[in-house]
Amino acid sequence: MKRFFLLGLTFIFIAFTSIVIGALLFGPKYVDSKINQTSPHSPFEVSDKAKKLHKDLLIGDWHADSTLWNRDLSNQYDYGHVDIPRLQKGNVALQMFTSVSKSPRGQNYNKNETSANDNITSLVILQRWPIKTWSSLAERVIYQARKIRTLEQEDSQNFMLILSQSDLNDFMQKRKSNSDLIGGLLGTEGSHALDGELQNIERLFDEGFRMMSLQHFFDNKLGGSLHGISGSGLTKFGQEAIKEMLRLGIMIDVSHSSENVVKDVLSLSDQPILVSHTGFNGYCPSSRNISDSLMKEIAKKGGLVAVGFWDAAVCNNTPKSVAEAIQYGIKLIGAEHVALGSDFDGAVRPGFDSSELVAITHELLEAGVEESDIRLVMGENMLNFLKNNLAN
Ligand SMILES: [Zn+2]
Repeated sequence: MKRFFLLGLTFIFIAFTSIVIGALLFGPKYVDSKINQTSPHSPFEVSDKAKKLHKDLLIGDWHADSTLWNRDLSNQYDYGHVDIPRLQKGNVALQMFTSVSKSPRGQNYNKNETSANDNITSLVILQRWPIKTWSSLAERVIYQARKIRTLEQEDSQNFMLILSQSDLNDFMQKRKSNSDLIGGLLGTEGSHALDGELQNIERLFDEGFRMMSLQHFFDNKLGGSLHGISGSGLTKFGQEAIKEMLRLGIMIDVSHSSENVVKDVLSLSDQPILVSHTGFNGYCPSSRNISDSLMKEIAKKGGLVAVGFWDAAVCNNTPKSVAEAIQYGIKLIGAEHVALGSDFDGAVRPGFDSSELVAITHELLEAGVEESDIRLVMGENMLNFLKNNLAN
């Protein structure tokens, strides 16, 4: 009897161990490939004129969450949306990599409790990130930043991390002779990544972060989220955090922030700010998008509004709907304030990946948007913003 019991126990142990090993080996890829899909589609029709113009554009994207996933970005994958080979095919020059550190279970665009269980904790454990990332949000974003530093070391022919004005100059110079070179920048998504400590702003700056967003899906120590409970503005801590970010020359991103936080940031400083991934409410009424009047205030102060590629931002996910949202933005705030903010690899389902951006150029041309405006929106605005606002 005892022998059967021991045999049974051994069997259960082996089965359990196999499941755990299997989950650790294949789970991360499975989760990534399920969460970061692209809608199936046949190749987009693109005019010769669009192909020619697209090749001549400087293209930049303000928001991709690619570092959250266990991928070697030097390789091309058949899932997810961004890697170096696909950025090169899309003729992308500048890519902001944004680090996500916490996302509430049951995440939605209306109301999320700050205390809700965090999905990212299980993801980092499943992906076998270092143990210190299990409990510290700052460590999670630092770990993601270091992946980008490693990418630069291991793939310097194709990738360069831009940390300063001189890096930016260097990059633009090098790109003249190497049009495959991608310039990457680092941003955070939600300043809960500070783990509640102001001194972590400088620590993250030292790790390479040059853009910080204030909130993500829930209210945090800095203030209310657009999808939180309170709808409140900046807290005292939030005001101090903004001052510290400005002192260091960190660009401030108000995507996902409550409208009251956006207003408070605008009244606190004249520094231009970003909405790194969004849509326009007048084009796509959605609880993901802040009001058009606030977008105008952001533009008035020299800010940039970067249009996303997924349904909650532009009410569809096709190149045509992205192009329409861009046209709406151009009319509302002027072409010099509109940019691209894909949200690629951010658990959204766009209709195309980074290798297919020519489809947007095509749709903009088809809609009769001026070539000079297309150049601005597709990336020159991003370059100019960096020239004016990236730290020295
Ligand atoms: Zn986001």
